[in-house]
Amino acid sequence: MRIVVQKFGGTSVATPESRLAAASHIERARSDGYSVVVVVSAMGRRGDPYATDSLLSLLDGTDGVAKREADLLMACGETISAVVFAGVLRSRGHAVTVLTGAQAGIVTNGEFGNARIVDIRPDHILAKLNEGQIVVVTGFQGADETGELTTLGRGGSDTTATALGVALSAEVVDIFTDVSGIMTADPRIVKEARQLEQVTYNEICNLAYQGAKVIHPRAVEIAMQRNIPIRVRSTHSEDLGTLVTQSAHQLEHGALVNQNAWGIAHTANVAQIRVEGEGVGTSSIFALMAERGISVDLISVTPQQVAFTVADEVADVAIRLLDELGYQPQLRRNCAKVSVVGAGMTGVPGVMARIVTALAQEKIEILQSADSHTTIWVLVDGSHMVAAVRALHRSFCLAAAMV
Ligand code: ASP
Ligand code: MG
Repeated sequence: MRIVVQKFGGTSVATPESRLAAASHIERARSDGYSVVVVVSAMGRRGDPYATDSLLSLLDGTDGVAKREADLLMACGETISAVVFAGVLRSRGHAVTVLTGAQAGIVTNGEFGNARIVDIRPDHILAKLNEGQIVVVTGFQGADETGELTTLGRGGSDTTATALGVALSAEVVDIFTDVSGIMTADPRIVKEARQLEQVTYNEICNLAYQGAKVIHPRAVEIAMQRNIPIRVRSTHSEDLGTLVTQSAHQLEHGALVNQNAWGIAHTANVAQIRVEGEGVGTSSIFALMAERGISVDLISVTPQQVAFTVADEVADVAIRLLDELGYQPQLRRNCAKVSVVGAGMTGVPGVMARIVTALAQEKIEILQSADSHTTIWVLVDGSHMVAAVRALHRSFCLAAAMV
């Protein structure tokens, strides 16, 4: 059996028109000979009646709702969506079975609101596929070993899709969304930004973490472990979107891509915190942040100084904690993190030099930087974010595929 998993996000199942567009992708896959497992998110976005945020807002003003109960509430969004979507498929003549996460065999740990998948028992799905049915699975949920319903954390439907892809050895996992694929930069900022045909798991993870909110990083990690290809594509187009795989994107438009970097990502609303002084207690600072659930990003440590970034909204709490430890932290708000992402940059000299030059020409100061084998991050003042993204996009010649 050749299996594909097709996941439709909230906007892809929000209206009768988008549900029809979604159904046509499923029909295409079936006519191409695939058995199809469909994963759906809750319908629509905040404000739409059955979206996850809308369901959660029913709890506004109440007190003491246990996480366990919030999970029961949130899981309704995907359940509603799956049943409505199955209705569309059935009225188009297909045999369909709807399964909740638990019925689909998704076993999680017991961490309500942010559960991890620990096992998938796909017998039920496979039996229905063998009967020629389309199986529609509610995204974002599972059950622990005792049968307690759990949710996988916000954005978790992507994780359902890739985890099922792995469990079923799917040929590909399609993530249908409202963008047509992965772009070289945010097209609202860079008008020459173009869509990429192929990226690696690592590259997309770096972009996803950066605010290109097309796919949840955890979903990518799961697919990566078993090398299951993902396609990020638009519900409203036949285009195959961007293929995400293990190997570097060697071929684009049939030509070898001769460039060291392929994407520029950005995150606004970052705060930089600096603590100076001989022998700053680095481990105590980071242990404290971790203990209080503050996620720390770009970190630079020298014998005289520790600098790191946090999300703007937690900066005050972080500063207060450092004050309590007896430090005199300095805070710089409204920074932005801009990154150059590309597996092709590994071992290539001069990438950092190019970044520094491009930014210097625009008189943009680099406040801090960090790098991994696929990404270089620079921190700049927030007022320079747009100019920095544009300058780097230009400098790395991302507007045109290079031959
Ligand atoms: N509906 C859930 C959320 O809004 C899960 C998802 O859409 O991936 O977070
Ligand atoms: Mg999502």
